[in-house]
This record gives sequence, structure tokens and C-alpha cells, in this order.
Amino acid sequence: MIESADRSIIQHRQLQDLKHTINRVYQNVPFYKKRFLEQNITPQNIQCLEDVQKLPFTTKKDLRDHYPFSLFAVEQKELVRLHASSGTSGKPTVVGYTKKDIEDWAAIVARAILIAGGKPGDMLQNAYGYGLFTGGLGLHYGGENLGVTVIPISGGNTDRQIQIIQDFQPTILCSTPSYAINIGEKMIEQGMNPRETSLKIGIFGAEPWSDEMRRKIEELFQIKACDIYGLSEVVGPGVAMECYEGQNGLHIAEDHFLVEVIDPETLKPVPEGTEGELVFTSLKKEALPIIRYRTGDIASISTEKCICGRTTTRMSRIKGRIDDMIIIRGVNIFPSEIEHHLIKIKEIAPHYQVHLLRNSSLDEIELHVEINEELFQQTSQNLLHPMITTLQAEIYEKMKSNCLMSMNIKIHPPKELPRSEGKAIRIVDHRKKCMKGDQHELC
Ligand SMILES: [Zn+2]
Repeated sequence: MIESADRSIIQHRQLQDLKHTINRVYQNVPFYKKRFLEQNITPQNIQCLEDVQKLPFTTKKDLRDHYPFSLFAVEQKELVRLHASSGTSGKPTVVGYTKKDIEDWAAIVARAILIAGGKPGDMLQNAYGYGLFTGGLGLHYGGENLGVTVIPISGGNTDRQIQIIQDFQPTILCSTPSYAINIGEKMIEQGMNPRETSLKIGIFGAEPWSDEMRRKIEELFQIKACDIYGLSEVVGPGVAMECYEGQNGLHIAEDHFLVEVIDPETLKPVPEGTEGELVFTSLKKEALPIIRYRTGDIASISTEKCICGRTTTRMSRIKGRIDDMIIIRGVNIFPSEIEHHLIKIKEIAPHYQVHLLRNSSLDEIELHVEINEELFQQTSQNLLHPMITTLQAEIYEKMKSNCLMSMNIKIHPPKELPRSEGKAIRIVDHRKKCMKGDQHELC
């Protein structure tokens, strides 16, 4: 089994596949040939895995510039599927798959479900969105490939999600972590106990989340929650999966993808264990091979053997996307770092939003949090205000000492912050329009 093979065997196979991929893109994708030649590189220059560093990077902009199909290495008639990003910040990026690509992807996701503790015969409620987004269909075909009963419910319609959990009794829930919390809270609201469902495993991803959020979800549902990573430009979900046994980093599907971590400023590789931007090269994809794709995701990697016995490289949880990094008065921070410290405070519900404001020329940061519902109900009206003032001071201090930022802390009553049915919106940037949010604040 490649996942527990000696690393020299894994790397030997990676090199063979890398050489093959470089040859193919050189022959079939004019964009790559031109880029390689600009750097005086031909496929013969790739003789060891480190030689990948000689190759130019590929970015989201390259995909957009070649919208929709110009980076494909096969003719359209060989494609059996297309997916695309939403294109909210510009033209969408389009990705395509041959029949073999779809089969490979399904096998990658099937293995990911196994890594997370799933097995044939399980029932999987797939609350990832179906459609052009790769999440829904990615988990769908992976589940079927493994021999899991897939419920293709897609995202949203929370009442229906709950009804299906009750009636069909799935053992695995797939969704974004923020949507899982939403489902659990709605169950409690409807008088059910999420800890008493048939669910045993959660496969959560498509947004950065912290270990503290994991503990909240595991406690809420009494399940084991594992992190799945992927992005459509590389293949979709399944590029890496956290194991049930270790829950300590995500095993990269190294038989399909070659990972590098670079300093996003200097573009030089960083040492193992150091955080940087993840870069992936596909090793087996036919339709859209991708060379040194800069993901914009910040993480570190480790090649240390995992307690589960796998020897594949593990990546840390995604700390955040470079685009999501908040820079206020020279201090950089990711929402996941705020989450890490915030969620530990037991008086707070696992919902938050970071608002960025500009008052005259000064940038300010407002952290909107919600008070824990139980606490809110139990506290009498005259004690509520002093309690909130104390809590505000506590959160302020925690953020100041851990995140090195002074934040205005806004505490909301239960259920006031927006709930996610897909990817949670953690940052609201008002700096361009200089407006405050219209949510009601307790303090
Ligand atoms: Zn492991």
C-alpha cells in the first residue's frame, strides 16, 4: 500500500509521474511550453523531484487568463465533466476531467473517507453543495466508489437535513464545519439531542477551522470530526485528509500530488515544519495537469511517520488563505488565529465575525461574537449587563495578548450572527464603504 510505503518508494513513483506529466504539458499545452522555454527548461531538465523547483509557478490568474479551456491538455471530446469556481472575484476558473481523471478522483476521495474512519456499508449524508462546485460531486463519487450509501442532499435546507439524519440514520456527515454547527444548533432548538444521532464521523472542510472548533463540533454531536482539504484547481476535495487515529495533520495523496511549501514573498521553499504557501503539482491528471499551482493557502508539512502507520506527508490545518489575512496597523492575523483563542471562552457560542472599519484614516477591527445561549437564558436581566462588560474585557485582553491587536468587542444575543449553509463569512470589510453593520449589539 503506497500510503505506508517507504518514503523512497513514494518519491521514486512521484518522480516517474512528474517526468511523464512535464512531458505531456510540454507537448500539449502551449502555455506551459512557452513558460518553460522562457526559463530555458525542457522536460529533460527534470531528473529528480527537487528539479520541480526550476519550473515556473502557475497561479489563479493564469487559469483566468486562459478561460475557459486553454490550459487543457486534451481535446474537449475527451472531457466527461467540467467544474468551475463561483467567479465572485473576477472570471471563474474552469477545471475539466477525463473519464480516468474522474475515476482517479473518486478513488482518492474513497481513500480519504477510509482515512477518516469510514468503511463500506456506512451511510454518508453529503451536505456539500452539488453543482459547479467540486465539493458535492467529489464526496459523492468517492462515497460510491468506496461502497458507502450516499445521500446526495446537498447544502442548505437545514430542517430537511435534520429530518434525514433522524429517519435515514447516516453514520457520516460531510459539510463545512460552520454548517455542521448550524445543523446541531437547529436540532437542539427543535428539542433533539445531536449527541444521540446515528452519526459517528464528520468529514468537514472547504473553509479554514481551528482545533478548538473541532472540539466544539465533536462535543456537539459526539462524533469524531476530521478535516478534508482540496481545491478544484488541483482536483477538488481529497487532496489531503486527516486520519481518524491521529487527527494531527492531513495525509496528502502523494501518489497524485507533489507538495511544496514556499515563502509567499520570496517564492523560495521553506524548511519542513515552517509555515508557508502550499504549492501543488498534479502527477496523474490528464485533462488539466497543473504545475506548481500556488494555492494561496498557508500551512506547514511534516514527513514524520503518523501514529496511524501512514508515511505520506502530512500538512497542518490551513491557517488561512493569503487573501484572508487581516493587516491592521502593521499586524498580520488570520481569522483562524482569532477563532483559536476565542472558542476557548465558554461563555461564547462558536460563531464570530471580524469587521474591518476605517474611521478617518485609522483602520479598526471589531470582533462580533455571540453569547452562549444557555448562559443568556440563565442570567437575569439586571446581571446581564455587568456580565457582558466583564466578558468584553476578558475577550479584549485575550485578543490583545494572543493576537497582539486591540479589537472592539461586540457581544450579540444568541442567534444574531449570520448562520452558514456553506462557507462561513468570517471577515466583513467595511473599509471601502466606511459603514457599520446593522446588527443589534448588546454592548
Ligand atoms: Zn495518520
